Amino acid sequence: TFKGRTALITGSTSGIGAAIAEKLAASGANIILNGFGDADAIEAQRAELEQRYGVKAAFVAADLTKGAEATKLVHDAERAIAPVDILVNNAGIQHVAPVAEFPPEKWEALIAICLSSAFYTSAAALPHMKRQDWGRIINIASAQGKVASAYKSAYNAAKHGVIGFTKSVALEYAESGVTANCICPGYVNTPLVQGQVAGQAKAHNMSEEDVIRNVILSVQPNKRFVEPEEIGDMAVYLASDSARSITGAAISVDGAWTAW
Ligand code: NAD
Repeated sequence: TFKGRTALITGSTSGIGAAIAEKLAASGANIILNGFGDADAIEAQRAELEQRYGVKAAFVAADLTKGAEATKLVHDAERAIAPVDILVNNAGIQHVAPVAEFPPEKWEALIAICLSSAFYTSAAALPHMKRQDWGRIINIASAQGKVASAYKSAYNAAKHGVIGFTKSVALEYAESGVTANCICPGYVNTPLVQGQVAGQAKAHNMSEEDVIRNVILSVQPNKRFVEPEEIGDMAVYLASDSARSITGAAISVDGAWTAW
């Protein structure tokens, strides 16, 4: 489907981003990986995408706490393979603390990665998309972009913000072949959540199984984690031509979390 298209997925060395990269590669897109991690593991991931799916895959480093690096990532991606046709802003971090005790440097980093980097990469990628009258921006927001929880002020602010940002992009490009949408996952089984499970188990002196069922999934009515591949499949759909009229949307994949 995406043969000849190039997709940049931020934060694709782990979790949801890695699954999105794999699903887009399986649909024929060339892939630009980005994120932190062990160099050998990233090279193995890159080589496997090329071998398994017969696409080109490159890794481009960028620390998305820095706007200039986010901009440069898009230009480096073009040099590595080709201009970015499908941009997936997925990189993210979490930090949990009461507002009055929230470390300012964590606030700044979280807003930079989860919100501002989507502005910088989009601004850099949109001119090419507009020129060719085809492009896809897919921002990974969260159920927490629609409803909030205590102690996640920075995350809630960033994720609500990225939904608003995405709507603006959609309106600006509505008459072109460029769409901009958010995917809003509930709890997905990734290292980011596994870290929260371990932390809560310690804090509440509970087993990890009890934390998963009674704390984490208490907000997710279907009582199971979303798998990263489900988000990958949604990204493939949003990038497809069947989804050309879906723009400015924030699509929940959350087991009815936000139906409450
Ligand atoms: P993860 O921790 O498994 O992966 C995060 C990725 O972002 C990694 O590749 C990491 O290297 C990268 N990253 C972190 N800081 C970066 C930086 N400064 N510069 C560049 N890359 C950086 O997390 P995940 O669960 O796969 O989350 C991916 C996205 O999905 C995030 O935006 C997250 O908020 C969102 N999300 C996750 C869940 C969930 O339950 N896991 C739910 C809703 C939304």
